[in-house]
Amino acid sequence: MNIQKKNIAILGSTGSIGTQALEVIAANPSLFDVYALTAGNNIELLIQQARQFLPEIVVIGNEKHYLNLKEALSDIPVKVFAGLDAIVQVAEMEPVDIVLTAMVGYAGLAPTISAAKAGKRIALANKETLVVAGDLINDLCQAYGTSIIPVDSEHSAIFQCLAGESTDSIEKLILTASGGPFRTFNLKALEEVIPAQALKHPNWNMGAKITVDSATMMNKGFEVIEAKWLFGIQPERIEVIVHPQSIIHSMVQFVDGSIKAQMGLPDMKLPIQYAFTYPERVQTKFPRMDFNLYPYFTFEKPDLERFRNLGFAYRAIKEGGNMPCVLNAANEVVVEAFLKSQIGFLDMSDVIESVMSNMVFIRKPTYEDYVKTDEETRLKAREQVAEISR
Ligand code: NDP
Repeated sequence: MNIQKKNIAILGSTGSIGTQALEVIAANPSLFDVYALTAGNNIELLIQQARQFLPEIVVIGNEKHYLNLKEALSDIPVKVFAGLDAIVQVAEMEPVDIVLTAMVGYAGLAPTISAAKAGKRIALANKETLVVAGDLINDLCQAYGTSIIPVDSEHSAIFQCLAGESTDSIEKLILTASGGPFRTFNLKALEEVIPAQALKHPNWNMGAKITVDSATMMNKGFEVIEAKWLFGIQPERIEVIVHPQSIIHSMVQFVDGSIKAQMGLPDMKLPIQYAFTYPERVQTKFPRMDFNLYPYFTFEKPDLERFRNLGFAYRAIKEGGNMPCVLNAANEVVVEAFLKSQIGFLDMSDVIESVMSNMVFIRKPTYEDYVKTDEETRLKAREQVAEISR
């Protein structure tokens, strides 16, 4: 196997995906170099990472940390920048081969557009980008010959199942969901849920926002939208099934009735590494699956009465236009409010539903329309949060 060494830019290096990507890189020094690291606020960890991996560039999103970061790294040969514009520029730099989009939320949109226009391989973790503007990103990828390799474990699973298959032979995609920490809770119990409970995912250790999204099943709704844009399959042919063991990461059913599944222990390092090395596979020391420890796999239909966000996501992608952007912005506002204990667990869905019904629909949004939709949705959602928490 002859894999050329790749220069990697990690957008969001201090987060859950970012730190695991650095573990993958540290374990394969002959395959990868870190070209750039970017973070939002966590300069302590960014400094540590810069000293260990000696990238060409580091960027801190929040400009108020710039001077401290620059001072702390003044003894090593690294260029230091600050602000979202600098992150956008990093994503298009000539020496970069792969951009890992591991920022959380809407903030990842502009850098992903930049990477797409520069024709970089995009290892895409930041699913919100495809939720907000999947059609725009796809158009850019087509125009600039850019490939997106999914990092999300479900989409990596589908991507792996589709190796050697044609899109025409797909009957449906089956996305598995763990069901999150509240899978067995009734509505009464869900009303009482506090953030600390939502932040305890049964199978995955992830950043706070996606962990809450998993608890509400908005994460699975986002993944349906992400799957539509990545694989060109309409939402009617994307099924969600709850599989609490999280060993089958997702499946594809083909027109002849055959089903392929991709399995493994829940560990994001595997899809991250695959996105870096695709189409090759590289030896790892990750723990192996022992079927003796998993005597059974179980499956359940998701309950859209208790987990309404999943239904909202199907509605948003069917309506199309700027509606998924509305869904995402409203969700970012309510998750933040829930984490600050300003609203309850079930209030999140109420606000999202109300905001979705009250925004101006735009059928074929431009980038500027997305920006405006995002801003206006946040305002509306914040008003409603304020009313509830009053
Ligand atoms: P984290 O919250 O752990 O990390 C987010 C990263 O983005 C941090 O480095 C953070 O910096 C940075 N960041 C956040 N906001 C900004 C901003 N405005 N400007 C610049 N940088 C910013 O998230 P995760 O790693 O869990 O998730 C990252 C993405 O990957 C999400 O889109 C998520 O949905 C997706 N994903 C995550 C999985 C997981 O297992 N964690 C699985 C599949 C997908 P700092 O901390 O320094 O402020």
